[in-house]
Amino acid sequence: GRTVAVFTSGGDSQGMNSAVRSVVRMGIYLGCRVYFINEGYQGMVDGGEHIAEATWNSVSDIIQKGGTIIGSARCADFREREGRKKAAYNLISRGITNLVCIGGDGSLTGANTFRKDWPGLLEELIKDGTISQELADQHPNIQIVGLVGSIDNDFCGTDMTIGTDTALQRIIEAVDAVVSTAQSHQRAFVVEVMGRHCGYLALVAALASEADFCFIPEWPPPSNWRDILCQKLSVMRGEGQRLNIIIVAEGAIDRDGTAISADMVKDVVSKTLKYDTRVTVLGHVQRGGHPSAFDRILGCRMGAEAVLALMEMTPESEPCVISIDGNSMVRVPLMQCVERTQAVQKAMNEKDWETAVRLRGRS
Ligand code: ADP
Repeated sequence: GRTVAVFTSGGDSQGMNSAVRSVVRMGIYLGCRVYFINEGYQGMVDGGEHIAEATWNSVSDIIQKGGTIIGSARCADFREREGRKKAAYNLISRGITNLVCIGGDGSLTGANTFRKDWPGLLEELIKDGTISQELADQHPNIQIVGLVGSIDNDFCGTDMTIGTDTALQRIIEAVDAVVSTAQSHQRAFVVEVMGRHCGYLALVAALASEADFCFIPEWPPPSNWRDILCQKLSVMRGEGQRLNIIIVAEGAIDRDGTAISADMVKDVVSKTLKYDTRVTVLGHVQRGGHPSAFDRILGCRMGAEAVLALMEMTPESEPCVISIDGNSMVRVPLMQCVERTQAVQKAMNEKDWETAVRLRGRS
């Protein structure tokens, strides 16, 4: 059997534990040795007790937990070649040459850089006398499979990322909760949700909660949005509606690129329409709580597919990402997805929203 390691990196998301569990159990089932790397790339660079062998039972009782039990971190060292060299030593000295990286586009970019560097890193380790030529020859390359954990659903190449469905669930629960108080007091609520470059959470939450208005970065309103908003809200009130819900994505802007914050929206509504208006910023509540059934199953399927993909890979195989396409697990080239995701971010920065939306859709 092969030796496989799994780690979570970047922002945490619900369902990561399910993916970790699935990688461990599918790996052991297929006769592999499976290791945890705790604290993401930092654990890979630091080695020692951060890299520990997993057992079948070590992943019991985690599928229902939010976040990631093996820890996640941002790691400056891994961005440097010296850090990646330490990581390469820590892996090869344990015979680990198969990696499952669960993270966002940053983490997956790092994994790709690591693989490209691998042969050169081994040469340096041989030259330093840290490892033998024989050991290096046994592990000419590192095989990498990525799984996307992100609440924002901001990654190109998969219909859903691990954690998005649960974050939506949290948002909907929160909106339902403010609706009942808004109803009683005839209030307007402005709810700010996460999504700096991606309005998916805001848009889907708005649809699912019957919101009156929604601001997302990909579809900026014209600069007279204040008039449009107040017009719409007063029509709704005129028809007998007792409350208003407005959802604002963190990264919302108008067509000139000026930020639209929840507080700005509140000021407009309270000053112009004189409605009792409150702001609710959901913040990290969206990252918390138990993963939904969908995210548990998504993590489970993606984790199992990741191990199956690794089993078929050779030292020549390019890294891939496991994605969900419709209802199927598919393997897509990692760098292609990362590059498209970065192209979306570039288009967003250039205010080319049409291109951003087109690139994010299915090709
Ligand atoms: P996310 O994976 O959620 O997008 P980050 O962008 O913070 O989060 O990336 C997580 C970690 O991945 C970083 O702290 C760093 O260790 C590593 N990483 C990101 N980009 C690179 C890169 N270009 N080269 C090497 N490592 C990287």
